[in-house]
Formats: sequence, C-alpha cells, structure tokens
Amino acid sequence: MKGILSGYRRIVVKIGSALLVDRASGLKREWLAGMAADTARLAAGGHELLVVSSGAIALGRTVLALPKGPLKLEESQAAAAVGQIALARAWAEALEAHGVRTGQVLLTLDDTESRRRYLNARATIGTLVKLAAVPVINENDTVATSEIRYGDNDRLAARVAAMMRADLLVLLSDIDGLYTASPAADPDAKLIAHVERITPAIEAMAGGAASEYSRGGMKTKIEAGKIATLAGTAMMITLGSRSNPLAALDGGASHTLFAASRQPVSAWKSWIGGQLEPAGRLTVDAGAAKALAAGKSLLAAGVRQVDGAFERGDTVSIVDEDGNELARGLSAYDAADARRIAGRRSAEIEALLGYAPRAAMVHRDDLAMR
Ligand code: GLU
Repeated sequence: MKGILSGYRRIVVKIGSALLVDRASGLKREWLAGMAADTARLAAGGHELLVVSSGAIALGRTVLALPKGPLKLEESQAAAAVGQIALARAWAEALEAHGVRTGQVLLTLDDTESRRRYLNARATIGTLVKLAAVPVINENDTVATSEIRYGDNDRLAARVAAMMRADLLVLLSDIDGLYTASPAADPDAKLIAHVERITPAIEAMAGGAASEYSRGGMKTKIEAGKIATLAGTAMMITLGSRSNPLAALDGGASHTLFAASRQPVSAWKSWIGGQLEPAGRLTVDAGAAKALAAGKSLLAAGVRQVDGAFERGDTVSIVDEDGNELARGLSAYDAADARRIAGRRSAEIEALLGYAPRAAMVHRDDLAMR
C-alpha cells in the first residue's frame, strides 16, 4: 500500500531538540537510529530528504555539564559550538549505517535574507541533494547574534523548504498536530486534520505559549506554515517522540496537514514574502489595499504612513489602517524619500524629489501578498 508521503518527492524534516537530546543522558541514539532508518528507506524509494536538526545547544550543555537554567548568550553559543560537532557526527554515523551520505549546512538569518547569499545557499544545498547526500541543516548558533538570528528552527526549516521548493515540510513535534484548543487545558480540544488556509481563526488556535521543550511552540509552527504554504510547500505537524516517526506518518499516524497554496508564488516572490525581518512598514489606505488585492502596484498616493529606516530595495511590510499585514514588497524608495512622497500623486512627485520618479512605491513584480 502506498503511504501518505508517496505524493511528495522533496521533503524537509525538522527535528526538535527534545527528540534528540535527553538533558541527563545526552543523545538519544536509539531514536536517531530509527529516524535514520526511516530517512534511508524514503531516500531509497526516490524521495529527496533534507533534515533540519536542532539539538546543538542542548547537546553541548550536557557535554559541558553546564548548570540548569537559562544560559547567557555567549554560553549558549559556546554550547552550540561543542554540541554541533557531536550532532553532525551522530547524524553522519546514523545515516552511514544505511549507506547514506550527509553534508552539514549551517545557516544564519543573513544567508536567507540577503539575495546573493540566498542564491548561494540554494545552489549548495541543491548540489548536495543532486549528489544524493542528505543535507543536515541547523542555524549557525555560534556566530548568530540575538538581533539577527532565527532562534527557532521551525521558521528556519520553512525558509529552507521554500528556498528549495520542497513539496512537503514535516515538523516532528511533541504533539501530533494543531488542536482547536490546548489539549492540556481543555479535554474537548480536537485535532484539526486538514488546514486549507491559515486564517486568523487558525492563528488564534495556536495561541502564544511555547511547550516545555520547543523554543517556538505552536505559534512559530503556524508562522512556518505561512512561509511554506505560500511557496507551494505543504506542511505536516506530527508527533516525533515515537520511534520511527516518519514510517509512522507514512503509515497514516495522526497529524495536521496544511495544504500548499493552489497558486504558489514565484521563487522570487516567495523569497520576498518569506523574509522574517522587514526593514520598514508602509500603512496604506483602503483604496490602495483594494488595488493591491487586484494585483496592482502600490502608488505613493495610497501610502498614509512610513515607519522604519530602510534603503531602496529593502523589504517593507505593507499594512492596512487596522495594522493587518497585506503584503511584503521591495521599496523603490528609501525611507526618507518615501516619507516625502507619501500621499502625493505621481504628478507632484518629480517636483518634490527633484528627479524623475519611479512609477510606484512598490512595483507589483516585487510584491508578495500575505
Ligand atoms: N538551533 C538550535 C540548536 O540546535 C535550536 C533552535 C530550536 O530549538 O528551534 O540547538
């Protein structure tokens, strides 16, 4: 019988720290062996597997016997340095047992947000896949500083899945899917098997609280879902703590499926739309919001307010007057010029700026709707 994963060729699997590392005893080798067996079996069946593995910091702190409780930034960075070697080695050995090669890829936020580095990372990871080596990916925690880091691997994995145009992103979690309410607090909470679109109602179900282990909790998983589904990648959340979790999922174990958008945007627009840290914000009036929804460019006339410090070509978030995010796009003006021409009609702009204006504040080719 065909498994439920059979329709997805390129699959990114995200593994949380708690699945791989026990605070007291370190690496959970048996679990990893099962996971590696699953990965090898799927790879042998023609799937392309990419692993996003957390666990560097957790593993490093057990190896270094650091005390319980929160770590200072430089301590967690040092723990990551120690843990990442052990982690990558464990993956390499576990997969090597099945004759599968691995390659370690460490990414920082900059590697996905800056266009040139993004293209470079995409080419390298693509080559690894072509060479049938499973990329084992993590954030480069040792050098990433607090303002410019992902911090959670849910969104990193989604960004990687979108970048690699994966068919499916699997988040192995400490819970088997998205529930209508927190199952710990509400006995009537029900698993949602299928999410066609991530609506505000779905976002509300995710709440804000992180679970004990995962850094992000359900909220960052929903954020990950937005990035992935917008790019045409479906996402599944399922329980990871059982042995052979991918085989279980393939066999139909309970999960939530977030359907991929039926009209995935281009790779270019998915890069824009998936940016995590827009440099500024443009608040637009109702007329402009309507024009955007109809696929038009954003003109200066419809911009009510400009926030942030950004350069020409930087990503800005476009919001309506209630603060709802409508789109992300690349600004054709820097923040200072954008402020000068906001609300002005195209005919007035040349006199204001002293140069021939661009047709739009954000051109529709550089716009990704949310
Ligand atoms: N990159 C972190 C690590 O490997 C984990 C981030 C997360 O928990 O999502 O330790």
